[in-house]
Amino acid sequence: MRTILEYTENNLIYMIVLWGVMILAAVFWNLYRREKKAARKAREELRGGKKFYSSFENNRKTAYVFVSEKNRKVLYATPNLELVTGIRPDDLKTDTELMTGLIVRKEAREIAKQLNAWNKEQEFSSEVNYHRSGEKELRRGQIQILYCEKDGGYLLILSDITEEYEKRQEMERELITAQKESQSKTDFLSQMSHEIRTPMNGILGMLSLLKTHLNQPAAAEEYLAKTENLSHFLLTLINDILDISRIESGKVQLEEIPFSLEQLVDKLDSMFRSTAEAKGINWKIEMQDFDVKYVIGDEMRLSQVIINFISNANKFTPPGGTVEVLFRQMDRIGNDLHFMIRVSDTGKGIKEDFLSKIFRPFEQEDASTAHNYGGSGLGMAIADSMVRLMNGQILVESEEGKGTEFSVYLSLPIAEVQEQNEGTEITEAEDPAKTRAIEAFTLKGVRILLAEDNDINAEIAMEILAMEGAVLTRACDGAEVVKMFKESRPYTFDVILMDIQMPKMDGWEATRVIRKMKREDSDLPILAMSANAFLEDRRKSLESGMNGHISKPVDYDEVRRIIGEQLWAVRSH
Ligand code: ADP
Repeated sequence: MRTILEYTENNLIYMIVLWGVMILAAVFWNLYRREKKAARKAREELRGGKKFYSSFENNRKTAYVFVSEKNRKVLYATPNLELVTGIRPDDLKTDTELMTGLIVRKEAREIAKQLNAWNKEQEFSSEVNYHRSGEKELRRGQIQILYCEKDGGYLLILSDITEEYEKRQEMERELITAQKESQSKTDFLSQMSHEIRTPMNGILGMLSLLKTHLNQPAAAEEYLAKTENLSHFLLTLINDILDISRIESGKVQLEEIPFSLEQLVDKLDSMFRSTAEAKGINWKIEMQDFDVKYVIGDEMRLSQVIINFISNANKFTPPGGTVEVLFRQMDRIGNDLHFMIRVSDTGKGIKEDFLSKIFRPFEQEDASTAHNYGGSGLGMAIADSMVRLMNGQILVESEEGKGTEFSVYLSLPIAEVQEQNEGTEITEAEDPAKTRAIEAFTLKGVRILLAEDNDINAEIAMEILAMEGAVLTRACDGAEVVKMFKESRPYTFDVILMDIQMPKMDGWEATRVIRKMKREDSDLPILAMSANAFLEDRRKSLESGMNGHISKPVDYDEVRRIIGEQLWAVRSH
């Protein structure tokens, strides 16, 4: 029994000892694991730290420096400090002033002031202009400073932001240009509105006066004449405004077609000689030193520019004065002809202070200019934009009271073929039989097919043309004019007057369809009569197979003349 008891007692002691050992082992095991984990973490942190540190080695943008609060000594600096500032980290450790020396002096003083006033609670940040140590080039930098109370110091973040700064500057410049452009567009718009309202106001005023004077024919006639003048002025103004805004918005495309400078001179001569001489102006036009006849370019646009200079010269030169146009070949470089067109006059001249503004839209020398000479101050702006579009240059010289000289310098490719079509246009225009026939031409009995979708326009055209004796048939859209022509017997119509923007089919397409028809009169004269009034529209009309282009508002004398020309051509061949 005792033995049993002893045995049980001993067992209990063993059990207690065993438990104790096991608990101790568990505690040590746990401690060991925790230790190992901490060591692994420390190793990882060290590896990460090194990686973090070495990632700066090639970074040219941002370096970090830590400065002790106590003695203002540099405790550490990332190794790329030299790339960003040109200062070696070790040098900075011995001389903290090195960094201040890089900053433009005035800015360094300003930063010192700001730092004195800094409350350390928020991050300090400032941009500076600086040089990398030993370099001349000015760079843009950013200094940020964070106060780290726990670590007893300041973390300086030094960044080279030159590239970003330059981009920012560029964007700011672009913004300013865009703002200026938008402002000048607004100015242009408000000036345009003013310029349009002025003649519009005149037209409406004259019409209301006319209404009250219907029983006084002389007065009524005068109001009507004034209304007509104002309407023509308004039309020119609108054309000029549209022209200028199209050039400015890059919508004008220059033609590149061979043309003869000699023929251009002849055209200008026949256009201006009689009016200049009728005013008592001594008119001269000549070509000098040309050994090239044909160049490649946009003849219509070039004439537009020169016509404007000549019209002004005639306008501002009193009777007895001289207007001279000179075309002179300057040089041949490679395949390009460099030449000058000079329009000079002995007229009233231009004040010096106005010369710098002459190419701005709506500018006239003074208020009396419009009153005495008319005009709206857009011609020069158009000429200037047009010549710039041709990569040319205009020079103006003028002396008040003595006269003015506009010189256009241009360079155009020389056309390969120098004899092509030479003289044909001029000979045709000068054919006296044709001139006589056209002068005597009337619309009596001319059978016109009019394609016009707008009822009012159709009514006006039909009334006026019928009054002249023409026989009219109307089609209301492009598809209808094609159908009517197709269903008519050959030679039912002498001419088609074709609006362009019409429902179902436009006038250009309708012309193309008619031209393709297999019948003997499918080549009858077709003339565009359209509110599409740009030079490009005129070109498109000719390309579609039309024989001419009359812009709206329609000048019915022009209609008669052009129909006369066309029918003369048809009948005489
Ligand atoms: P507009 O002739 O319609 O007024 P322009 O733009 O063609 O417009 O000309 C602007 C201004 O330049 C004219 O109003 C005039 O004051 C001045 N100018 C242009 N050409 C001449 C010239 N040959 N002689 C004197 N002044 C001129």
